[in-house]
Amino acid sequence: MWASPVLALLSMTQVSAHPKHFLSDKVEHFTESVIREMTRQAMQYNAVNLAQGFPDFSAPAEIKHAAQEAIAADVNQYAITWGAKSLRGAIARQMQEWQGIEVDPEKEIVVCCGSTEAMIATLLAVCNKGDEVVVFEPFYENYGPDSILSGAKPRFVSLRPPQRAGGEWTFDEQELREAFKHQTGQHQTHHSKTKAIILNTPNNPTGKVFSRKELELIRDLCVEYNVLAITDEIYEHILYDGSEHISIARLDGMRERTITINGLSKSYSVTGWRVGWAVAPPAITNAIRKVHDFLTVGAPAPFQEAGAVALSLPASYYRELADRYRMRRDHLIPALEKAGFVCYRPRGAYYVMTDISAFGFANDVEFASYLVRDIGIACVPGSSFYKHPKDGSRQVRFAFCKKPETLDEAALRLEKVRARR
Ligand code: GLN
Repeated sequence: MWASPVLALLSMTQVSAHPKHFLSDKVEHFTESVIREMTRQAMQYNAVNLAQGFPDFSAPAEIKHAAQEAIAADVNQYAITWGAKSLRGAIARQMQEWQGIEVDPEKEIVVCCGSTEAMIATLLAVCNKGDEVVVFEPFYENYGPDSILSGAKPRFVSLRPPQRAGGEWTFDEQELREAFKHQTGQHQTHHSKTKAIILNTPNNPTGKVFSRKELELIRDLCVEYNVLAITDEIYEHILYDGSEHISIARLDGMRERTITINGLSKSYSVTGWRVGWAVAPPAITNAIRKVHDFLTVGAPAPFQEAGAVALSLPASYYRELADRYRMRRDHLIPALEKAGFVCYRPRGAYYVMTDISAFGFANDVEFASYLVRDIGIACVPGSSFYKHPKDGSRQVRFAFCKKPETLDEAALRLEKVRARR
């Protein structure tokens, strides 16, 4: 029998590769998504899933029909790598109509597999090793791993919870300025290491909608330090209490240094279609297109056609969407408050961050485990939105993009929540 000399040597010397030998150092610096883990736990415990932000109700009939028609008409092969012409045209039209931003659909749009891919393709396209990316904290959990995978170092700036009922999440101007100024490494130059700021407005998880004044301050810093703004605006149509969504690309001096990210998932309740996009000046778009091409080739072709139909829905569709979410917010918050949560009322998006101090648990993870196992409601532990778990240890996030019946059931179960003393 032929025996491999290498295997023979291995068995003699008892050399066995440590599993770490095969892994990239990068993956050591982050964990799997806690949000998606909580969805798995919700299924395991048959809990009401208020963890992961996806609707449990139907997508609009006309866009489902458009997707079915596209498949029947054999739009089943690759679309153009950077996006079907019909969808890019619709994106450009919508940006003009809603934000007054002129976009060349031939040169300034990359359609990706969800805004998730648009974000990481953008970071891979613009970041060099050692660059820093400013991120407001609490942050949507993807931004941490996205920065690390692209070689950049996230630099966090705190958003502070409202101090009084109905107040806003705020940040400290000086802290933000320091983050832009920051220089690292032995080879200090007079240049800041900051490459970009990641913005998310309306914000996940806080529900904050950045004001014009705040965006102007961010603009001034981006211009002063020659920094890009990468802005995730996936919740742009989900706004409450008269708040207005402003795309930072619209502010003077920002168009040439902004990458605007958006997608179909939240505006049209189709999170499983995986269609999103990045809009940026031509040179940046070219770089994102290259990364996107080799990451995924293209987004699902029939859903892009349906996306073009979705983006052509009338203004009344968006009014109703926001109205329905406002009712859901106002349905869940009182039930949470009655149970003892302090709720930070969101101005946009479909999440509510809460304070759980009243329940006396050691931390957010213990509380979330109790809630999913004993009460039958899944939420997201606050720590997954912070770099240091302790900073989010008194918070949990609930998603309210659910049917009224689902929220009723959650309210019923919340009545059983007890303080641990
Ligand atoms: N954005 C959604 C959330 O925050 C869904 C996250 C995801 O799994 N992609 O819950």
